[in-house]
Amino acid sequence: MTSIIRHEDCLAHNTGSRSPERAARVTSVLGGLQGLKGLEYLPAPKARAEQISRVHPELFQARLGELEPLEGLVSVTEEDTIMSRGTLDAVLRGSGAICFGIDQLIAGKTDNVFCVTRPPGHHAEQEIARGFCFYNHVAVGARHAQTHEAIEKVAILDFDVHHGNGTQAIFEDDPSVLFVSSHQMPLYPGSGYAEETGAGNILNLPLAPGAGSQEFRDAWSTLGLPAIHSFEPDIILISAGFDAHYRDPLGQIELEDIDYRWITEQAMGLAQDSAKGRLVSILEGGYDMQALASASRAHVEALI
Ligand SMILES: [Zn+2]
Repeated sequence: MTSIIRHEDCLAHNTGSRSPERAARVTSVLGGLQGLKGLEYLPAPKARAEQISRVHPELFQARLGELEPLEGLVSVTEEDTIMSRGTLDAVLRGSGAICFGIDQLIAGKTDNVFCVTRPPGHHAEQEIARGFCFYNHVAVGARHAQTHEAIEKVAILDFDVHHGNGTQAIFEDDPSVLFVSSHQMPLYPGSGYAEETGAGNILNLPLAPGAGSQEFRDAWSTLGLPAIHSFEPDIILISAGFDAHYRDPLGQIELEDIDYRWITEQAMGLAQDSAKGRLVSILEGGYDMQALASASRAHVEALI
């Protein structure tokens, strides 16, 4: 059984009419999954403050709470990182989804998990909301996983077209978490050079604009997947952005649906090797509605 965790609060986060990070992203993903067998749909609980506090200081959480408007829109840090009434509820559902998914998995109630939530999280640093992101869900998930006795080492696999600067910043001094990211370079947020290695636990796989299936698979096959294999993680978390798809308007990488099936199958193989199959994925970016539907369907077909 594959669990799809989502919540309608994720639709209420309003970013205005011009932002590509909009509620239709989630409905497109869920629409793409229609008709698939072997799925159970579960509502995301809100993350508790102590779960968020393992990554984001309480003062930062309080500051975001003060910034959230009762009406209208407010930009935070960057012009396109927008809060409305309901933003923090959506954010808490995202972090809550991954924590809940991890609990379900470790309790043996599901085989793997895909959290279909927004806004995304991988650009959020400890005390910086940016790049459409407020709390770093995958980082909160990694820290939550480590509260379980069975989990010491967490591998985070990030195939979003943008570098997961926030995830890197949060874990760059912590060898209990391996972060491997493929991303277009140059592109927002500007970090993610191969030379950025943290405590030996950060592996960046930058891809040139125009790169496609071959370059993506070569980078993962020669560097990314072997690194995760040698790390022997107890769980694999996926920052699943679908904006490296050829249709996506924000990136210039040319992946196709079948590449998302491939990377998912590779991750599942690695999870079988050392992590008893434990794998939890969460939606990050992806801004073409048709590509979101078809690429996330390929991702979930592999999970099933
Ligand atoms: Zn992205």
